[in-house]
Amino acid sequence: MEKRIYNFSAGPAILPEEVLLEAQKELFALPGVGMSILEISHRSKTFEAILAEAKSGIKSLLNVPDNYEILFLQGGASLQFSMVPLNLMPPKNKADYISTGSWSKKAIKEAKRVGTVNIAATTEEGEGDKKYFKRIPKQSELKLDPDAAYVHFTSNNTIYGTQWQSEPEVGNVPLICDASSDILHKPIDVSKYGLIYAGAQKNIGPSGVVLVIIRKDLLERSQDSLHTMLNYKTQAENNSMYNTPNTFGIYIIKIVAKHLASLGGLSKMYEINKAKAKILYDAIDSSNGFYKGHAEKESRSLMNVTFNLTTADLEKKLIDEATKAGFNGLKGHRSVGGLRASIYNAFPTKGVEDLANFMKDFQKKNG
Ligand SMILES: *Cc1c(COP(=O)(O)O)cnc(C)c1O
Repeated sequence: MEKRIYNFSAGPAILPEEVLLEAQKELFALPGVGMSILEISHRSKTFEAILAEAKSGIKSLLNVPDNYEILFLQGGASLQFSMVPLNLMPPKNKADYISTGSWSKKAIKEAKRVGTVNIAATTEEGEGDKKYFKRIPKQSELKLDPDAAYVHFTSNNTIYGTQWQSEPEVGNVPLICDASSDILHKPIDVSKYGLIYAGAQKNIGPSGVVLVIIRKDLLERSQDSLHTMLNYKTQAENNSMYNTPNTFGIYIIKIVAKHLASLGGLSKMYEINKAKAKILYDAIDSSNGFYKGHAEKESRSLMNVTFNLTTADLEKKLIDEATKAGFNGLKGHRSVGGLRASIYNAFPTKGVEDLANFMKDFQKKNG
């Protein structure tokens, strides 16, 4: 079999080897079915069982209460930027958004097409095309409207490498979260949320499927005048199968959920994720300024570690040498520059240790 390298890609991103091997083993023919997951009807008993297992896997990992619906939709997290306001903003037609990065801004852009957006806080800094984010706002900075239809925030800012350490306190207003890049990385209290959405391709599966967890009473906000496919209520009533769902994506999510449970669930993942991130942040912090973390320390992400070197030339040299040595996907997002190591659930501790050692060697030679 082809040898695998260390994949630090921000998304689509690394999947657990066990998951890939199981999918590979079953790809030719599902056991007892004689057909591939790629070939069977979404209306078949086999697929119904796969969907049910994917749902129950997510439900038990995240301890999702019974008054929530779990959906697997299409259009990525980006379509949720539209579906959230289309379904949940009326009749008040105003919502609070907390802006902490590029994905928050994209969500805000779509929400503004539906109603009034109050920017409850933004941590954007800089001028013109040099604007950036490097931190999460404090609770005291949030200017929340108690009469808003909901409050939207982005739990992990994939591009800037910042992450909320705990959810914002929003009183009785439904809290909506884009958790695309940190879903399932630690236990969360789902009952604090009105809706959570996450594109699968960072922490739970392949691209093309988005997980939506919605409190059932909020489904009543979806108006019949909405386009059918954009209506959460329709999607819930049809068990995510109003049309043909992403059958393969849902199948992979089923295996990922089973795999995470076998490792000990999300408390265990949180321990592992904290330990992994610490290895890289320690390498940065102990480098006497050779490496400089982009995010403020209290806002650092466990999923995306962003950092710079003193010059763009050195950054390029490090990326080139690292790529040759089998560390792939370290180039920072074009809007931030520098380096970004995405170390989602599936990224092995050994790979993080090897990168930290590689960084130390590089510093010795170039510092
Ligand atoms: C990747 C990402 C998105 C976009 O996801 P798509 O599935 O490509 O639409 C949205 N929000 C966050 C936080 C992301 O990391």
